[in-house]
Amino acid sequence: MNQMGLISFSNKGIYCKQGDFYIDPWRPVKLAITTHGHADHVKWGNEAYLCHELTKPILDQRLGMELKVETLPYYKEISINGVKVSLFPAGHVIGSSQIRLEYKGEICVVSGDYKVEDDGISTAFEPVKCHTFVSESTFGLPIYKWQPQELIFSQIRDWISDNHDKNKTSVLVAYSLGKAQRLIKGLAGYNAIYVHNSIANLNERFIKAGVDLPESIRITAELKKEELQKGILIVPPALAEGRWIKNLTNAATGVCSGWMQVRASRRWRSADAGFALSDHADWPGLLSAIKATGAEKVFVTHGFSATFSKYLNEIGIESEEVTTQYGSEEEDEEVLEVAK
Ligand SMILES: [Zn+2]
Ligand SMILES: [Zn+2]
Repeated sequence: MNQMGLISFSNKGIYCKQGDFYIDPWRPVKLAITTHGHADHVKWGNEAYLCHELTKPILDQRLGMELKVETLPYYKEISINGVKVSLFPAGHVIGSSQIRLEYKGEICVVSGDYKVEDDGISTAFEPVKCHTFVSESTFGLPIYKWQPQELIFSQIRDWISDNHDKNKTSVLVAYSLGKAQRLIKGLAGYNAIYVHNSIANLNERFIKAGVDLPESIRITAELKKEELQKGILIVPPALAEGRWIKNLTNAATGVCSGWMQVRASRRWRSADAGFALSDHADWPGLLSAIKATGAEKVFVTHGFSATFSKYLNEIGIESEEVTTQYGSEEEDEEVLEVAK
């Protein structure tokens, strides 16, 4: 194990020795502090979990209710074995948190996944001053620069209305945690929104937990094709090429993902449309977020970590790439969800 101040990177995950806990471990540990509910950041089998109060409904849904989960609101500080621990909004998905650790005046922040644009549904990202910052780098290449979300949403609306004119059924492909809620918020009041089970189940829990989420309708076998054709369907990636889509009236699929910016993914070549709507920071977003922390040292995790950390060193921010098991990102989770 490589000990570096308040945190180290072990074969189980990001470890805080002084507090004897892990952040987003990928192997079972005693206490896991969870940044957010995506499958690559939270695994089953830890003795106890600590997360934001809106991440708990996700864990309950995905890992089962019998888990021992303690929650915190943003900003509230607790002490674990003398280490001060608090959560700050990461703006990635509902409940997503940066974990701030403080011990004997040294401050370390672990970002989990984050985006800097306020999506109106996840609490907006807030930079936190620290000595050491652990940043993701999912889109850590200069080619990734998002258009403002208003513009992307207006493109999505145009696409939907064009589909209506052509009697096509609009199917938006989006991760069930994060992108789906963001689409529901952004497209509410426009057409009826129909969602796949995995999204409906999560939404129910969010609404119960007090999230102000506009209405959406669970897709069931009873719904008529004509009805669906007038609305907007949101389904997770694992279902995007399923047989039931072929049974819809002239389905047109629109994939909502940051990867659509370069249409690099082979997987989505058959999609009718791509919208580069991402829940991660783009290149300028990563840089502005990192500079705002004032960190003396930045550890770069999953994504284009080598390129990104090299660039940080070039502009005078001491940085190091670290290997973690995060990153195959939400896609794996979707397969699991659907297989359930
Ligand atoms: Zn994530
Ligand atoms: Zn991630």
